[in-house]
This record gives sequence, structure tokens and C-alpha cells, in this order.
Amino acid sequence: MISEKMKKLAQNNSVIRAMFEEGKQMAKEFGAENVYDFSLGNPSVPAPQAVRQAAIQILDSEDSLMVHGYMSNTGYEDVRDRIAFSINERFQTAFTRDNLIMTVGAAGGLNVILKTLLNPGDEVLTFAPFFTEYTNYVANYDAALIAVSPNLETFQPNLSEFRQRITAKTKAVIINTPNNPTGVVYSAQTLTALGEILEEKQQEFGAPIYLISDEPYRELAYDGVEVPYVTKYYRNTIVGYSWSKSLSLPGERIGYLVIPSEADDAALIYSAASIATRVLGFVNAPSLLQRVVAQCLNEKTDIAVYDRNRELLYGALRADGFACIKPEGAFYLFVKAPNGDDKAFVARAKQLHILIVPATSFGCPGYVRIAYCVSHETIQRSLPAFRQLAQEYGLC
Ligand code: PLP
Repeated sequence: MISEKMKKLAQNNSVIRAMFEEGKQMAKEFGAENVYDFSLGNPSVPAPQAVRQAAIQILDSEDSLMVHGYMSNTGYEDVRDRIAFSINERFQTAFTRDNLIMTVGAAGGLNVILKTLLNPGDEVLTFAPFFTEYTNYVANYDAALIAVSPNLETFQPNLSEFRQRITAKTKAVIINTPNNPTGVVYSAQTLTALGEILEEKQQEFGAPIYLISDEPYRELAYDGVEVPYVTKYYRNTIVGYSWSKSLSLPGERIGYLVIPSEADDAALIYSAASIATRVLGFVNAPSLLQRVVAQCLNEKTDIAVYDRNRELLYGALRADGFACIKPEGAFYLFVKAPNGDDKAFVARAKQLHILIVPATSFGCPGYVRIAYCVSHETIQRSLPAFRQLAQEYGLC
């Protein structure tokens, strides 16, 4: 018999993962070129050549016992030095290795910091629409995720409701910018206001509220839009970064947490988080990948590829009459389901071999997410099916 907690999780297994599996099945049945699978955020740009070269060079030239061995739970010291230097150079911060913990992707980092911070019954706030897994990650530590309702005009955080939702039980807030699923980048103005509210509420309740900035899409921003560095806007910020999307390494599971020294109880949090890394069973982030990313800190994914997809899909869907905002970052388009029923829309789209995700699973019913990290040709081939959908719903 499985545990009660796991029973619930098994019942609510990720809609996105289920659809991805279904997509593979449909591709077998109808031919891969006739299925337009926009379900999963799996990068479609290969990792830069420099990643491969770094891995080979490390394997060829470094001591194998060191490359494959255990190290400090927080990661290799020299790797953390190089990452801290790189962040400081880019964002004018002053971090050292002692502010960094290497993690098993963003998901590993989030679990480490939530395990470190949460007591049963605590509340974690986030803004709808939000990455579905947050609910599970928070539930892992018997706390509750509370979603602030979306601002359907801009999809920037709804700050007036946010202020009201903060209570004495609020231990942390998770934000994600550039955002999955909307592609919105939180502006400096938004972050300033968010920081001010948190500062005010910390004073009111006499306890720290940690802002966890989940940033796997930091490097994926279009048209030169700035993605502000969140620690500059609020003292009690903890950053979770990942190379899953920025270097197209999602299966390799590599990222880091930044715990700034100015955060309340920073030293205590840092040492507890390094233990959380161990007791959660990660022990440490993958050793070879730590060394690889440290050599690739100036490498970039070819964002022009995603940008081309963004322009094509956004342009075509708007021309068909669909309502959506133009994403500024990440690789998702968030589209209003024409009659407000996202599940019915997704089901009809599937009959036309378009696989997209109902945003009910992101806490925002009435919308769908289209992941455009696919080949340009897939988007081109899918457009007649989107046009047909638009016609059936009377949009054009
Ligand atoms: N957070 C968000 C918002 C994501 O979209 C994802 C993955 O899609 C993750 C976290 C998990 O990323 P990782 O593969 O680095 O664990």
C-alpha cells in the first residue's frame, strides 16, 4: 500500500506529463509530422557546443576521483566562486561562494529551500497562473500554497489582493519571472512595490517573509527587455536558478540557490539548506555538470530560434482572432480559450492533433498554455489547424 500523501499525488499526476506521453503515442499512430505537441517546456535549441567541449575536456584532463567524487553538500568551492563572480559582474551584487548552494535543477533547489523554511501549517503565497508543481513542492512539507488571483489584463502580480492575503502564517512567497506560463517579465516597478508590501508585512507580523525567486527562464528574454535581479528589491530574497532552459540541459539537473548574507538568519538558513540537500537524498548536485557549467557561464542558448517561433505563433494566432499577450520571455504563449472553457478547447484542439495545456492546472481557468519550444516547421504545419479552431469558435 502506498502512503496517503502519495495516493493524492498519484491521483493528480501532472496533466502536462500525461499529455506529453499521449503525444508520443499519437506520433506513433499518425506520424510525428502530423502531431503538433506544444505540451512540454523541453528546450528545442541544442545545448551550445561549448557544453560538450567542456565535458570532454574535464573528463580528459581532470582527476577522475575528483570529477566523480562526493564533495561538500553545497557544491565545489571553485565552482561556487566562479558563479558568484559571474552573478556579481552581471548584476552588481556582492555574493561569495558562501551564498551559493549547487542544486539538482530549479526543482531540487525549491525543495531544498522549502524544506529548510517551512513548518507544517505554514502558508506560501504565489501568483496565478503559476507552475503547477509548486503545489506539490509546498505540500511535501505539509504547508499550503495559496494563489493570488491573476491580473487578466497584464498578468503582472495582483498586488492589492496580495497585500490582503499575507497573514501571520505566511512564511514565503514564490515568484517566477520570466513567467511560466504567461511569458511575462516582472518589471522593476512591480518588484519595488512587491518588496515594499513584504517589508511592511514583516514589520506588522514581526517575522521574516522570504521571497523565493524561481528563475529558470532568466536568460530567455526578448527585445532586450530587462529581467531585474530580485535580491536588489527585497532583502529577504532567495534566488533559485537552473541551467535547464538557459543551456538546454533539463535532463542533467543542475542549478543553484543564492542565499544573500543580508537575509534574516542567512547563516542558519545556509547551513540548514546544505543539510536539506543531503537529507532529501540529493546529497549534492551532479559533480560533472557543476564543473561543466562553471566553464560555460558566458555561454548563451540561441534565443533567436525561440524568438522566431514567438513571432510566428503570436502573429498567426492574433490574426486568427485569438486573444493573448505577447510574451516577453520564456517560451510559452498564454491564450484565452475562446468560450472560456479551457478543457473543452484543449480537447477539441487534440482532435486536430494540437496538444496544449489547460491553464486550470496553472490556477487560471479559461486559458491555455502553448509551449513554442518546438521546431519552426511544427508551428508552420500547425497553423491551418489553429485556423480551423478559430473558425469553429467563430473568431474569424
Ligand atoms: N520552475 C519553473 C517555473 C519551471 O517552468 C520549471 C520547469 O519547467 C522548473 C521550475 C523546474 O526546472 P528544473 O528542470 O531546473 O528543475
